[in-house]
Amino acid sequence: MEIFSLLTHFRTSTNSFFSQYEPLVLILAPIFSLFIARFLHSILTVVLENGIKSTLIASFMYMIKLIPGVNRYLDAEKQKVVDKLQSGNKSKRDGWRTELPASGLGSRVIEMMKEEKRKDVAWQGKCSGTVYIGGTEFEGHFSLINEACSMFAHTNPLHLDVFQSVVHYEAEVVAMTAALLGGKEKASGGQICGNMTSGGTESIVLAVKSSRDYMKTKKGIKNPEMIIPLSAHSAYDKAAQYFNIKLRRVPVNSEFQADVRAIRRSINKNTILIVGSAPGYPHGIIDPITELGQLAMSFGVCLHVDLCLGGFVLPFARKLGYPIPPFDFSVQGVTSISVDVHKYGLAPKGTSVVLYRNHEIRKHQFVAVTEWSGGLYVSPTIAGSRPGGLIAGAWAAMMSLGEEGYLENTRQIMEVSKKIQEGIKGIPELFVVGRPDMTIVAFASNIVDIFEVNDLMSSKGWHLNALQRPNSLHICVTLQHVSVVDDFLKDLQESVQKVKENPGPISGGLAPIYGAAGRMPDRVMVQELLVNFMDGTC
Ligand SMILES: *Cc1c(COP(=O)(O)O)cnc(C)c1O
Repeated sequence: MEIFSLLTHFRTSTNSFFSQYEPLVLILAPIFSLFIARFLHSILTVVLENGIKSTLIASFMYMIKLIPGVNRYLDAEKQKVVDKLQSGNKSKRDGWRTELPASGLGSRVIEMMKEEKRKDVAWQGKCSGTVYIGGTEFEGHFSLINEACSMFAHTNPLHLDVFQSVVHYEAEVVAMTAALLGGKEKASGGQICGNMTSGGTESIVLAVKSSRDYMKTKKGIKNPEMIIPLSAHSAYDKAAQYFNIKLRRVPVNSEFQADVRAIRRSINKNTILIVGSAPGYPHGIIDPITELGQLAMSFGVCLHVDLCLGGFVLPFARKLGYPIPPFDFSVQGVTSISVDVHKYGLAPKGTSVVLYRNHEIRKHQFVAVTEWSGGLYVSPTIAGSRPGGLIAGAWAAMMSLGEEGYLENTRQIMEVSKKIQEGIKGIPELFVVGRPDMTIVAFASNIVDIFEVNDLMSSKGWHLNALQRPNSLHICVTLQHVSVVDDFLKDLQESVQKVKENPGPISGGLAPIYGAAGRMPDRVMVQELLVNFMDGTC
C-alpha cells in the first residue's frame, strides 16, 4: 500500500513537474536532441575521414595522456628524439652573435664570410636535387648569374615606375615559360598569364588562393575543399592551413599515380580544386593530367598542375623523343601551373613562376587596398617588396642557355637517370618504385632496411631523400651527377651489401628514427616532434 501511494505521489509530482515546465521542456528537448545529433554526426565525420583505426588511436592516446605523469614522460621521450635529430646543433651555436658589433667591421666581413662558407658540407656532385647547376660549364653559369643578380640587387618591382628593367624581365620570364608549357597552342586560348614568385611553394599557395576566390565568385563556394593525391607536395597543406581550406588527400594507384577514380569519389559541392603533378616529387611519376582535366571540366572545378620539377625538363625531353604524356595548358581543364625556374631552369634560388589559363582567374591572386592612409596599393604576390635581382638572375639564366642549352642539359640528365635505373635493377636487393618519367628515381627494398642503406650512403658523402609510404629513397638527378653516376652506383651497391651482411643501425644514423616515425600510429605525436625539432633549429 505504501509503495503504491509513494508511486502515485511520484507520478503526480513528476506530472506536475512536466506540466509546470512544459514550455521549457518543449523548447529544450529538441535543442538537446539536436545537440546529441550534432555530436554523433561530428564523431561519425571524424571516423569517416580519418578511418576507424586512427580515430581509435587518437582517442586512446587522448585518454592515456589523462593519466598523471604520462604527459611528462612522453614529453621527455619526444625531447630525446629531437635532441638526436639535432645532434650537437646546440653546442655548434656556442659563440654565435646575439648583438650588433659596436663598431662596424667594414669590408672585413667578406673574409669572415669566406671562412663561414667553408663550414657547409661539400654539395658538389653528391646531393639529390639541391643545386641543379653543374657540368663542365657550371663555373661560368654561376658567375654569369651572380653578375646579373648583383647588377640588379637593389631593384624592386613593387616600384614599377622606377624599375622598368626588372618589370620587363619578369614579363619576359613569364612569357618564355608559358610558351614552353602550351601557352602558344590554340587550345590555350592565347590568354595564359602569370607572375614570378619566390619559389614553388609560393606559386602553389597563390594558385590555391586564386582558385578558392575564383570558385567563390563563380559557384558561391563558402566552405572550400581541395583534393590532392598522396604524392602531391606539402605546399598544398600549407595553403590549406593558411587559407582555411579543407584538404582531402587520396591514395595513389598501383602505378603511384593520382587515382582519378578515387579523386572523383571525393568531389562534392564544396570542391574548388583538384591537383596533378608532372612529375610528383616522391617518385618522379607524371599523373594522368588528361583524365584529370576531363574530370575537372565535367565538375566545373579548377585543376592545378604542379610542374615545379618538370617545367624545364618535360618540354625538352619530349623534343628529344622521350614518350611524355600531355601535362600542360594544351590539356583542356588545366587552370593553373606552377613551375620552378630555380630548379631545372638553373636560375638563382628564390625564383618560380605561377601561370593561369586566363586573366579572370589570375585577378583573384591580386590584393588591392583602397582605404590605407599610405595610399592606393596593389600587389600581385605574397611579398610586397620583391627582389629584382633574382628576377634579373632568372632572366639571365634562361636567355644565356636558350632552347639549345636546355635541350643539351635535358639530354644529359635523362641519360644519367636511365643509367641509374638500370644500375638499380642490377642490384637484386633493390627495386625501382613505379616507372619514373623523368629524372627522379625512387628505390626501395624488401630485403634490407632502406634507411640503413641511406645512413651508409650519407657516411660516404651522399645526400639522398628519404620517403615514406612506401619507405624508400630517391635521387633527383641534376647536372651535378653526370660525372659521378658510376661512383653513385658503386657506393649504393656497397652500402646495400654491407647492410645485408650486417643489418642494424650504425652509430649516429637516423634509420631508427625514420623507421619509428613511419611506424608510430599516433601521427599527432610525430607532428609535435617535427614542430619541436624546427623550434630548436631556427
Ligand atoms: C620543389 C617542389 C615544390 C616546392 O617548391 P619550393 O621551391 O621548394 O617551394 C613543389 N612541388 C614539387 C613537385 C617540387 O618538386
